[in-house]
Amino acid sequence: MSRVFNFSAGPAVLPKAVLQQAHDELLDWQGSGVSVMEMSHRGKEFMSIAAQAEKDLREIMAIPDNYKVLFLQGGASSQFTMVPMNLLGDKTTADYAYTGHWSKKAVAEGKRHCDANVVVDTSADKFTTLPPQSGWKLNKDAAYLHYTPNETIAGVEFNWTPEAGDVPLVADMSSSILSRAIDVSKYGVIYAGAQKNIGPAGLTIVIIREDLLDLAGDNVPPMLHYKIHADNDSMYNTPPTFAWYMAGLVFQWIKKQGGVKAMAEINKRKAGKLYDAIDASGGFYRNPVQKDARSLMNVPFILVDEALDKDFLDGAAKTGLVQLKGHRSVGGMRASIYNAMPEEGIDVLVDYMKQFQSEKG
Ligand code: PMP
Repeated sequence: MSRVFNFSAGPAVLPKAVLQQAHDELLDWQGSGVSVMEMSHRGKEFMSIAAQAEKDLREIMAIPDNYKVLFLQGGASSQFTMVPMNLLGDKTTADYAYTGHWSKKAVAEGKRHCDANVVVDTSADKFTTLPPQSGWKLNKDAAYLHYTPNETIAGVEFNWTPEAGDVPLVADMSSSILSRAIDVSKYGVIYAGAQKNIGPAGLTIVIIREDLLDLAGDNVPPMLHYKIHADNDSMYNTPPTFAWYMAGLVFQWIKKQGGVKAMAEINKRKAGKLYDAIDASGGFYRNPVQKDARSLMNVPFILVDEALDKDFLDGAAKTGLVQLKGHRSVGGMRASIYNAMPEEGIDVLVDYMKQFQSEKG
């Protein structure tokens, strides 16, 4: 069996130890005689898996007791709708930071429900900057302030948390959750699709401050209603049981690595090696993002001549480095280096980049 270094933006690489454990217990989970996929979600075995996963996530993110953790479906894209449907209450406006492709989608969905006020817009810079909050035009009557801590496509990441005062702060953490320590108490809602730093696609995690659960009325359909999911321990309908189990294995793996603080140190080192290689290439490779807004998770870079892109990707694949093609809106390459990408993968990539440059530069 051979595994490559997979730089996919998502669904993304999972820790090998987690895949191995899932493999080992696939046919018979801990003497139950069945696979996790075959268990009733209400049976005692799955209930124990579900509870342990939530406990571990609460521990590694230090989630305060007045927050609910929901294990839902529908991807982060459903959250673009659920956030306004659940949080507007009597209000008619919400604030949005528009800093990339995914926040654009959140704004578009917000506009279907309210007056979505764009407080900062970096589209003119092609999403390579993150202006300080002093220039944002916040509205004190907003139902919430929505932002995207890490924009997966442009590779731009906040290394600071916006200050929203009494307005609940809502974060789409799909591509940065668990990559560093955050203070959950600063947020009203945190949500993330699982398929980058949590586990397989099909699971969406929502972390919500309890007082916000009462804002939605009966007109919100049950499957889109945070309180209904919270009151039913995320089992209003059949949850994505196998993805929930896999997420639990990933949480245990993170604990074994030393938690999110340790992950952040490794992530900084990994990203540092890659950005250093790009910056030291004399322009052969280039990352256009403002230096203090560079993402630790998604590192886009373009080659000096796009005619070299195909050769670069072909040679990379032969070296066991796959899924490096950049998003079509940015072009070039993108290395997604989530928690589960081993540091060795970065070392091999950096060596390959140097060798390619020495041949073609
Ligand atoms: N937000 C961000 C930051 C993302 O990276 C993605 C997926 N790449 C999404 C939202 C959409 O997620 P999903 O496909 O789970 O709906």
